[in-house]
Amino acid sequence: MSQPKVLLLGPPGAGKGTQSSNVVDEYGVDHVTTGDALRANKDMETDHGTPREYMEAGELVPDPVVDEIVRAALEDTDGFALDGYPRNLSQAEYLDDITDLDLVALLEVDREELMARLTGRRICDGCGSNYHVEFNPPEESGVCDGCGGELIQRDDDDDETVRERLDVFDENTQPVVDYYDDEGELVRIDGHGTPDEVWEALHEEIEAAT
Ligand code: AMP
Repeated sequence: MSQPKVLLLGPPGAGKGTQSSNVVDEYGVDHVTTGDALRANKDMETDHGTPREYMEAGELVPDPVVDEIVRAALEDTDGFALDGYPRNLSQAEYLDDITDLDLVALLEVDREELMARLTGRRICDGCGSNYHVEFNPPEESGVCDGCGGELIQRDDDDDETVRERLDVFDENTQPVVDYYDDEGELVRIDGHGTPDEVWEALHEEIEAAT
């Protein structure tokens, strides 16, 4: 059987990154995430300026920049877990042209919970592990349990930028959700449970789809 091609949709903070890691561990597929790719190339000069300008304002980086990242990343993959893309209709149409998907899963989480998850999120500067000041604190405040690295807040996880990112999702990415829904391809998953509970539901859907 070929490896699954899974698209994870959902607002920032819905758990797409966590669940993508589960898909990767279970099926050995590639994790393709535009957010990480852009963070690693924040100061890359493009025809549209640098990604940093957009990211720090919580706005979308222009389509040609992200389309190319995804095209290159998917080129040599068999299966994948794709997250953070597409974020608007034109990206969804571009994705349609370059690949087929086995499953489009939407992780649904309400806005209040997303605000709490994102503004309390801390990331290890060393190994990238995720923590939360309240829901998943490290043993020692500000220090990674795994590697001892410093825990930092992402530049765009402050209150104001989080609000902007959630607004951008409602405005630009909700039409993407409707697009897959209209095509009958969308599976909705309740993202409020524990990561293990959400994974159980997602895993079942992947198995059913492949
Ligand atoms: P994320 O880590 O997925 O929340 O992405 C962080 C930021 O990267 C977003 O707020 C956008 O500025 C930018 N970004 C990530 N993916 C995309 C995309 N598909 N289209 C445009 N901008 C993106």
